Amino acid sequence: MTWNSAVSCGQCYYCAVKKQPTRCAQRKAYGIGYPCDCTPHFLGGYAEFHYLRPRTTIFKLPDELPTESVIGAGCALITAIHGVERTGIAWQDNVVVQGAGPVGIAALAVAKSAGAGKVIVIGAPKHRLEMAKRFGADEVIDLEDISTPAARLTRVRELTGGYGADVVLECVGHPSAVVEGMELCRDGGKYLVLGHYCDAGTVAFNPHVITRKQLSVFGSWSSEPRHLQAAIEFLRRHQREFPFHEMVSHRFSIEQADEALRTTAKWQSAKSVIVP
Ligand SMILES: [Zn+2]
Repeated sequence: MTWNSAVSCGQCYYCAVKKQPTRCAQRKAYGIGYPCDCTPHFLGGYAEFHYLRPRTTIFKLPDELPTESVIGAGCALITAIHGVERTGIAWQDNVVVQGAGPVGIAALAVAKSAGAGKVIVIGAPKHRLEMAKRFGADEVIDLEDISTPAARLTRVRELTGGYGADVVLECVGHPSAVVEGMELCRDGGKYLVLGHYCDAGTVAFNPHVITRKQLSVFGSWSSEPRHLQAAIEFLRRHQREFPFHEMVSHRFSIEQADEALRTTAKWQSAKSVIVP
């Protein structure tokens, strides 16, 4: 069994009228929106038991779907499904994914299955780019080998007939990636800002690029229950093609929670999982 990480009210302006339930003012996510001293306390993670609030959306997992696949995909896959849905990818579009973390890898899988042509992943370190190749990346650009935005733009143009990508998906979370990513789009292309779930600050940016290139720019916040339903079915059907279970690279006991966080902070793991 799994459940949607947040509950929207279903009755407010954004829920009921504008159909943007991820922007519901009442919406709170487990593990983020509730402090642990708030009763009945079991509202986060790192525990054997969890309290689910009324109207939480619950899904039964198919018997043939391993737990590791669901954990490995995690919130990254539903985030990517929602983001790509808003942006749209046409069949055989050339796509650049900025970032090779869990969201970048999931965006790669969603782009491929949405009919993308060539998918190019830009990121680091090497073990993450190797994971991207296992998920079907046609080309990878290693930030450590090609270290300047100008050189990466040249490489992306070489790989896209000189034009740039039809669609660029930002899955980095650093503001400088947005400045670079818009330049990686072809004229009339699409740009999705997906990685800025946290406020990472501001960046000097020239809006002229959006006008000159006639870009369509998209944002996407979290996900809805229907994205989780789609993710479960996607994982069940494509376990071999997209090995999300391999994302679970490190396991820790609950007593080792600090070590799990340190391992993630040092970029040593794909995903660090706490097994209570
Ligand atoms: Zn609402």
